[in-house]
Amino acid sequence: MTSEHFRRGYNKHLLHPWANFNELGKDENKTVITRGEGIYIYDADGNRLLDGPAGMWCMQLGYGRPEIAEAVSKQMNQLAYTSSWNVVNDKEIELASRIASKTPGDLNRIFFTTCGSTAVDAALRLCQLASNIKGQPNRKHILSRESAYHGSSFLAASVTGKERDKSAMDVLIDKVHFISEPCFYHHPSFASEEEFCDFLIDELEDKINELGAENIMCFIAEPILASGGVIVPPKDYNYRCWEKVKKYGITYIADEIVTGFGRLGHWFVSEEVMGIVPDIITFAKGITAGHIPLGGYAVSEKFLQELSDDKEGFMYANGFTWSGNPVACAAALASWDIFEKEDVFSHVKEISTYFQQQLKTLEQIPLVGEVRGVGLMAAVEASMQVSNGNDRLEKDYAVGELVDSHCQQLGLLVRPLINLCIISPPLVIIEAQVDELVSILKKGLELTLADLREQGIWQDTELSHNTSNAKRALSS
Ligand code: PLP
Repeated sequence: MTSEHFRRGYNKHLLHPWANFNELGKDENKTVITRGEGIYIYDADGNRLLDGPAGMWCMQLGYGRPEIAEAVSKQMNQLAYTSSWNVVNDKEIELASRIASKTPGDLNRIFFTTCGSTAVDAALRLCQLASNIKGQPNRKHILSRESAYHGSSFLAASVTGKERDKSAMDVLIDKVHFISEPCFYHHPSFASEEEFCDFLIDELEDKINELGAENIMCFIAEPILASGGVIVPPKDYNYRCWEKVKKYGITYIADEIVTGFGRLGHWFVSEEVMGIVPDIITFAKGITAGHIPLGGYAVSEKFLQELSDDKEGFMYANGFTWSGNPVACAAALASWDIFEKEDVFSHVKEISTYFQQQLKTLEQIPLVGEVRGVGLMAAVEASMQVSNGNDRLEKDYAVGELVDSHCQQLGLLVRPLINLCIISPPLVIIEAQVDELVSILKKGLELTLADLREQGIWQDTELSHNTSNAKRALSS
């Protein structure tokens, strides 16, 4: 059956995340995927696409790994389900102990959920409960950052700071506070990253003092802001935030849902890369190499001990039908075995230098304002030139969509995000495939620029053909 056939069914019956109701049921171009192999996916007409976003930051090992399929099938035959309300299964015990062996400090207690949003939600609810148990019912304010993405449950969406996601949907407003996104490129008024970092840390401290440290429940932060545009904070920013937050006795939650399980070549980056020991680390996505939904958090033993001293009547009334599901845990264990056996994370550390270098060459295209990233996560951001005027957002959306559609024609799936393209391929990508990815993206960006020139959206100025720093200086 062809894509056309499937598309009819999609338009008739499906409501997808982030749907625009004005366009519901009218998408003539929706890509219909029916198969995956290695780092490629195939549409219903047999066209091959390199999976630039690795699903959604999650298909660490690519597609068609028989070891994971066999582990899942075996587990389904042996034991498909247990309820955490009544019993515990062998696979969740094994997985929890492996996770505890990789988390920093005393983060040895693991709570399993069904995805990233439920992991964030469950961690925040644990913090709320902790405030109540400790007799600090006013300690409920949450600090987050602009451009952060933490998920889609009510609480996780509430702590999300992405501009685009501030839609008409309700969120918790009065208890969530956003400080600036740590993106140097978006803040051209600062002369250096150091100066910008000092500003960010002062801003954090001012906010703590304004709210009163005793009223702040937690600070939640992705080490690298992923869906907000692969924002790599200034050097030492994460460490200095952690230091400040701990100085005031506030709980630090590291959201490692994207950075965990190999995207930067580490099980977790909190300690190994940033040198910090959070109180809670959330994870999801890569833990099953994207094969089966599973999320959770690791929490410090000390954090929990403070909740158990002779307190009565408090209980962690929070959990999910599929918490610690044995099939999901079996998929995670099988993925884990491959990560170790094939030394996938060492490969990430090696290939990511090449990956970032090659992507950086795209800054030669006038349309590109900045290419930034770390490990196997990167964003190509269209120049600020496109973003001026009242119809800024409309033009920016047009850029992302044009790049995406040209790249798909050429055999690459990118993740358009307003004026950005996010690239986070499967961890097993090799050099020749990086070359393929970058050369298609280059062509896609050039074709987009030609379209924008034709539509009069883009005018060549002296900014053209400059590097990102020069563009930055000129646009400030
Ligand atoms: N936290 C981060 C950092 C994420 O990137 C995401 C999803 O992209 C989430 C939380 C939510 O995860 P999920 O979509 O599995 O609910």
